[in-house]
Amino acid sequence: MDIQTIGIVGAGQMGNGIAHVMALAGYDVTLTDISADALKTAVETIKGNMARQVARGKIAEADMTAAMHRILTTTQLTDLGPSDLIIEAATERETIKQAIFEDLLPHIKPETILTSNTSSISITRLASGTDRPEKFMGFHFMNPVPVMQLVELIRGIATDEETFAACKAVVDRLGKTAASAEDFPAFIVNRILMPMINEAVYTLYEGVGSVQSIDSSMKLGANHPMGPLELADFIGLDTCLAIMNVLHDGLADTKYRPCPLLTKYVEAGWLGRKTQRGFYDYRGDTPVPTR
Ligand code: NAD
Repeated sequence: MDIQTIGIVGAGQMGNGIAHVMALAGYDVTLTDISADALKTAVETIKGNMARQVARGKIAEADMTAAMHRILTTTQLTDLGPSDLIIEAATERETIKQAIFEDLLPHIKPETILTSNTSSISITRLASGTDRPEKFMGFHFMNPVPVMQLVELIRGIATDEETFAACKAVVDRLGKTAASAEDFPAFIVNRILMPMINEAVYTLYEGVGSVQSIDSSMKLGANHPMGPLELADFIGLDTCLAIMNVLHDGLADTKYRPCPLLTKYVEAGWLGRKTQRGFYDYRGDTPVPTR
């Protein structure tokens, strides 16, 4: 199937990034959100991020102008009717995602491919609530979307080869790299990354090292560009905890037990960069470790 029009549901940090890269690759994009403010912020963010790419010589001014013209925003989910491919990137809650697909179904073409950018929810379960589980899959971008090279493509149990090939062709056209993953909790990247972050929190919890020594050790000793605690703050500690819970519940293995200290930070509302405090305090000029 030849894909030209892309519908995106949810205009948060992931939705706006997905709209950005799709429009630059020449796709016609319709971006929808229940919040008109979120749509307004998304367009401003995309404009700002593209302007930065122009300033750095990564794209031409004309590419930016053309891409911005390809993005349409709407609060009406039904405007996604003509889309060839729909990427759902709304809030990570299963009931919200299920309701979105249910509302979309009467308005879309029989051949439209449905996908979700979920980090952790079962693709097979989301697909089974639709009329087209064979045309449903996971389309998992990394954050920030314009910068990160990888897209995980996740087949549900019923996903057909034609659907996978059509999504893979989109990833290729974006100039990104696809990794194929089966539909098990947290897929590939988060299945490996989150237990490492969780172990770093245990290392802190048990007093093996301070925030600074843990992050320096992994940067200088394992050549990671960011320390695990710094990275956890960037992702959001609530998101890290949610993914550990999905691994723990879904795989029923105690090795995925979320560290009590991670839970404590989330209980305190210290969620990382987005709340200005996590394993580091970001309220001053330079981040200061909180332990
Ligand atoms: P976000 O909170 O920034 O944005 C979510 C948006 O969805 C909000 O603008 C909200 O108004 C909108 N929304 C909520 N209900 C809606 C509905 N019924 N219809 C339309 N829009 C609705 O969240 P995000 O970080 O962009 O995450 C979105 C999805 O991407 C989640 O499934 C998340 O797991 C996944 N994801 C996130 C990251 C990350 O690092 N943040 C990485 C990969 C995947």
